[in-house]
Amino acid sequence: MQDMQKIQAVRDNYARIADNIAQAADKSGRRPEDIAFMAVTKTVDPVLVNEAIDCGIRLLGENRVQEWQSKREAYREGIPVDFIGTLQANKVKYLIGQGIRLIHSVDRLSLAQEIEKQAAKRDLVQDILLEVNIGGEDTKSGTTPEALPGLLAQVGELPHVHVCGLMTIPPPAQDTRFLEAMQELFLKTKELPGADMRILSMGMSDDYAEAIRLGSNLVRVGSALFGARHYPV
Ligand SMILES: *Cc1c(COP(=O)(O)O)cnc(C)c1O
Repeated sequence: MQDMQKIQAVRDNYARIADNIAQAADKSGRRPEDIAFMAVTKTVDPVLVNEAIDCGIRLLGENRVQEWQSKREAYREGIPVDFIGTLQANKVKYLIGQGIRLIHSVDRLSLAQEIEKQAAKRDLVQDILLEVNIGGEDTKSGTTPEALPGLLAQVGELPHVHVCGLMTIPPPAQDTRFLEAMQELFLKTKELPGADMRILSMGMSDDYAEAIRLGSNLVRVGSALFGARHYPV
């Protein structure tokens, strides 16, 4: 496709998705502005990312530390960036204090401890989400629902780490059972003492509308906005 066609496709996709988000918000008794519409940028040309920002995107999601480092200068300034990818402890130092708003993918105590160490060094508090493997898949990262309360209690002790919600990548499914299970877990976790559960990061290109209806307030959209990715990441 020519660049102009790609740019037009992003504009059309943005308008359609924003409209769907607004309708799903309305159906779940919330306002469109209560739902964060994240553009997931992996493999996407910064020209198209900037086009999405011009359309109204106010949050970017990055999967890989190196890809983010090589592209960040090309993005329009002032748009918050979240880290959503699998994270190795030795990469944490490249994220903390470098302009990452929220880390969505914290699934183990050792990783939270490394974030604590790096955030303490820079004298800041890093916001994170705990990632839950709601489908219990062997191949996916994320804590089990059973282990979540214990992990939350332990991470809650770290003074430079602030847990503000949960994130999940559910298995592909024909129905909404994993989204429902996650909604239930989120509501239950909210009740735990000391928990500050404000963000439920759930929903991608294929299920963002259902995810919003089931309580998500942050959807991470890649291919529906930018088109299919042409190589695996
Ligand atoms: C790639 C990715 C997305 C977006 O996936 P699409 O299906 O392209 O919308 C969302 N969340 C995470 C963690 C991802 O890696």
